[in-house]
Amino acid sequence: MGSILIKNILLDGQPRNVLIEGKRFKSLSAAAGAVAQTVIDGTGKALLPGLYNMHTHAAMTLMRGYGDDTPLERWLEDYIWPYEAQLSSEDFHRGYELANREMAETGTVFFNDMYFSLEEAIDVVAKSGLRAALGLVVLDGHTHSIGPEVLDFLKTWKDPTGGRIRFTLAPHSIYTVSGAKLVRIARAARENGLPIHMHLAETRTEVSNCIRDHGMRPVAYLDSLGLLGPDIILAHCVHVNEEEADILAERQVTIVHCPCSNMKLGSGIFPYEHLIKAGCRITLGTDGASSSNNLDLREAMKFAALLSKVSASPDLLSASAVLEWATVRAAEAFGIDGGVIAEGKLADGILVDLNNVKMQPCYNLVSNFVYSADSSCIAGVLCDGKLIYQR
Ligand SMILES: [Zn+2]
Repeated sequence: MGSILIKNILLDGQPRNVLIEGKRFKSLSAAAGAVAQTVIDGTGKALLPGLYNMHTHAAMTLMRGYGDDTPLERWLEDYIWPYEAQLSSEDFHRGYELANREMAETGTVFFNDMYFSLEEAIDVVAKSGLRAALGLVVLDGHTHSIGPEVLDFLKTWKDPTGGRIRFTLAPHSIYTVSGAKLVRIARAARENGLPIHMHLAETRTEVSNCIRDHGMRPVAYLDSLGLLGPDIILAHCVHVNEEEADILAERQVTIVHCPCSNMKLGSGIFPYEHLIKAGCRITLGTDGASSSNNLDLREAMKFAALLSKVSASPDLLSASAVLEWATVRAAEAFGIDGGVIAEGKLADGILVDLNNVKMQPCYNLVSNFVYSADSSCIAGVLCDGKLIYQR
């Protein structure tokens, strides 16, 4: 079992010696003379929890900057789907490598993915050291959409990472997967103990088409199909009214807010007030690098906090609350025993460089990290008890 001692690192306002044994934090106040296989000097650094990117399409790093400045429907149909149809396994592998590297360098320790070429994704995550929930994507008419045989693959699959990889069933959306198929996917997910990950209520067009085709808005439609529950993760939820916010809270759904993607595609403004007041579980995502245009979740925290102030009020979403969206709320959604720095929890975390000019002066560490920092302030990243990135 490996061990790491981080000496003299700032944690909860105090310099501490943090001891990691195996995958978990053994002690947050170890003696200076404690012994470990690896010793890291934490002087001038602070320890914060690692970030959870709850909605992305990792290998879309291949399409970063491609088809920019077009609305969602045209962007998907004219640019993204035709491009994806031509991608080979090797292409996907390169896209996943680029994504995993970018996420590790920007403080992400977990990503909830919805993309193609599962075997390439598994291979890259096994090597990168990150945690991931890999979505088995269903998208009617798409070249890379999976079929029912993938569930047989999962039954015999042996995890090469000791628990860092998990799976979801990922029907793309209500406008790309039929209602009957959504019901079958939900049944298969629940029989196999897999969460469901999909897009919902991203644009006004999606809402008006749903009313036209099904006589109800997207939240009511998914509820009528029996999909809403604590095991579903819904990306976007931009066009959700107060009544729908109450339904999402009551069903204990996990919502993923992707502020950069919503702004860039002109999808709309997240209904912060409705969803926070209803008591919904809210987490954060970047969405794919072709719509955000990076996988930097710290940047998503800043945009979410700023947008909440413009659209609602300056005190609705604090820096510490948005950090919880980006960490512990997401860990809870997946039942991962992490998302916080605490003894016994999984040893994931970010070593923040306090000597970086963007971190000085430091009246409030979390506030600086959310509003002022950039990835140059990240000196190292721990995941599953290993140092997966060091600047
Ligand atoms: Zn998406």
